[in-house]
Amino acid sequence: MKVDLEKCIGCKKCIPFCPQGAIHVEDKKAFIDQEECVECGICVRQIECPRKAFYEPEEVRQWPRSVRKVFGDPTEKHESTGVRGRGTEEVKTNDVTGRVKRGEVGFALEFGRPSIGCRVKDVEVVTIPLAKMGIEFEPCNPLTSLLDTETGIVHDDVRNEKILSAIVEFKIPEERFAEVAATVYDAAQHCKGTVFSWGLVVRYAEDGTIPVTKTLDKMGIKYPKNAKVNVGLGRPLTNA
Ligand code: SF4
Ligand code: SF4
Repeated sequence: MKVDLEKCIGCKKCIPFCPQGAIHVEDKKAFIDQEECVECGICVRQIECPRKAFYEPEEVRQWPRSVRKVFGDPTEKHESTGVRGRGTEEVKTNDVTGRVKRGEVGFALEFGRPSIGCRVKDVEVVTIPLAKMGIEFEPCNPLTSLLDTETGIVHDDVRNEKILSAIVEFKIPEERFAEVAATVYDAAQHCKGTVFSWGLVVRYAEDGTIPVTKTLDKMGIKYPKNAKVNVGLGRPLTNA
């Protein structure tokens, strides 16, 4: 994103809105740190700039900078998947296609957060060890198209792009949960320069218990049992 300096009057109204803290005002003009800007578009959509000084230059839509836009602006569709947002449609609900069946565990490892963001290459802290274990990354997740899925290494051209966040998504059979959980836990100790959160998707067992909790307890990992429900969908119950 850029600011038209002819228009800007340096009022500073925009500064608190930028999730990356990328805007600063100097000599009554606003400037954007192009390295930190994740092209989320909030400055255009949400800020009451009295001069409408923000504009999107052409390079925002050009590779590789366009990666920032699709991972940071929820109004933008990913070319590789046709989906808006950082993960698949069902990453938080398992409600769209019921991808995670009984006996399986879905993982959603979300890198970056507003204010900190991440570089695309930061995901390698988990994708490399997971690829070594033969994990298959979710093909409908837009991050997967930026990786060599055999090695988990991020493609050279996008490695250093700064993005708001990205989600590493995959699923495994329940029997592999302990070893994969240990790998993710170990990776978390080596994550530098950003943060990642760890979401698990499982179905209740027939007896009403939640699979994987015993393993998490053994590992000493505390977890909230969040449930996210989309009322009105629910097709997956037919193929549980
Ligand atoms: S809100 Fe607009 S006019 Fe005010 S400092 Fe920001 S860019 Fe400049
Ligand atoms: S596009 Fe987003 S990150 Fe970039 S300056 Fe605007 S609000 Fe900040």
